[in-house]
Amino acid sequence: NPVIVWFRKDLRVDDNAALAAAVETGRPIVTLYIREPEKAGTGPLGGAQQWWLHHSLASLCKTLQKLGSPLVLRSGAADAVLAALIEETGADTVHWNRRHDPAGIAIDTEIKAGLKGRGIAAKSFAGQLLHDPTRLMTGEKRPYRVYTPFWKALEREGEPHEPIDAPEKLTSLRKKPASETLDDWDLLPKKPNWAAAFPEVWTPGEEAARERLESFVDGAIGGYKEDRDHPAIEATSMLSPHLALGEISPARIWHATRGLKAPAEDVVHFRKELAWREFCYHLHFHFPQLAEKNWNDRFDAFPWEAAGKNFKLWTRGQTGYPIVDAGMRQLWKHGWMHNRVRMITASFLIKHLMIDWRRGEEWFRDTLVDADAASNAANWQWVAGSGADASPFFRIFNPILQGEKFDADGTYVRTFVPELEKLDAAWIHKPFDAPESALKKAGVELGKTYPKPIVDHGKARERALAAYKALKGD
Ligand code: FAD
Repeated sequence: NPVIVWFRKDLRVDDNAALAAAVETGRPIVTLYIREPEKAGTGPLGGAQQWWLHHSLASLCKTLQKLGSPLVLRSGAADAVLAALIEETGADTVHWNRRHDPAGIAIDTEIKAGLKGRGIAAKSFAGQLLHDPTRLMTGEKRPYRVYTPFWKALEREGEPHEPIDAPEKLTSLRKKPASETLDDWDLLPKKPNWAAAFPEVWTPGEEAARERLESFVDGAIGGYKEDRDHPAIEATSMLSPHLALGEISPARIWHATRGLKAPAEDVVHFRKELAWREFCYHLHFHFPQLAEKNWNDRFDAFPWEAAGKNFKLWTRGQTGYPIVDAGMRQLWKHGWMHNRVRMITASFLIKHLMIDWRRGEEWFRDTLVDADAASNAANWQWVAGSGADASPFFRIFNPILQGEKFDADGTYVRTFVPELEKLDAAWIHKPFDAPESALKKAGVELGKTYPKPIVDHGKARERALAAYKALKGD
């Protein structure tokens, strides 16, 4: 009887424990991807990630075809799809790699029980994380709430598993089960094609993920610690969208950073970022409502403004603060934003505009190619000050100083806000303070070619601090 290998957020053949174990059985393999309807697991993703999914599945289809077990695409509730495929193929075993989002876990638990009840073996494997989220616990067997002790525990746990190489060949059934097509799924944008510029930056798929990793460990990782904060420098790995859909495993990335010539501090810093991803998953696993509820319920009473006109201007990169606008436009154009600028734009929404972090989380979820339930929610709560181990609310990013510090000559702003391209570096992060002559020389007319600030930084800061103080009751 064949084994069904159900792909989910692990769109790869390398370091894929579920697939490797199926190969070991020596039996025919049916490879399957289910487009689930629920807002869970592989269920409807944000727009940008659907674009990614289309291309990623196209790449996986090619790989599996070459290996000998073409991917079967089906849509519907996972239990019903599995039941039908078992019936059609006579499979008596289903393999998958575990997912760790609470909704995905709930679905999988139910499916596992259902399959077992019908005498079908359901085997799940690890692979989405470096370590299982139940392994790293405090001395009192509680989940970690603070990152540094979590990192120490992760270090104590030792190296993650050695990645398993991709299989060289798969045995398939003689008759391929019927498959839907990617075109049936309509994952790509139509008109307007807002993803037109994505391919300038991205190539989805396992092979491209591997190439990105190789070029990063051969190059930019040296200097990562210092350069990673500067959005105009391509200093980070840009592996996040590949990781989000599992085109590469974190263990594969971790092991690729062993024995490099790059300075140890850069390698450790990079690994610490991978551990942040791990920490976010850990929080989400132990606090399933991370994307919906303030971790710290004191924030439940925060007097958020309605997400009206200012929210719209924020999403469009029209706030009048160049670093914020550059970030939001990078997000729209490329489906990705540099981490430093994610922090600045998120802080601006929450603290300058006093708009609920959940609205920002939602927008990012829809527009990021790396949208990830755990990392997105945990980071939004971190910026809001409402999260576990969060940045304190009263630390309000000054978008002018942040711009001057991390994009000193304005290269990043000029890339995404071309109407300020010719403005002198002295004013690029504060065109509203520039003398008329400097604006004129650069062809900038505030309120016409580029917006005036939608809020005054000083006043907005005072307002946010007052709201926070009232909340604390002191
Ligand atoms: P690198 O610097 O090369 O880091 C390597 C990997 O480490 C990343 O690919 C990522 O998997 C992980 N990582 C790095 N920083 C973080 C972090 N702060 N939290 C969690 N993991 C991290 N990341 C997502 O993957 N998906 C999201 O939806 C997401 N939403 C975010 C929302 C906000 C408001 C903020 C401030 C950050 C968010 N991040 C998110 C984290 C971070 O910005 C991205 O992971 C990072 O910018 C990806 O770029 P990179 O792959 O070049 O990172």
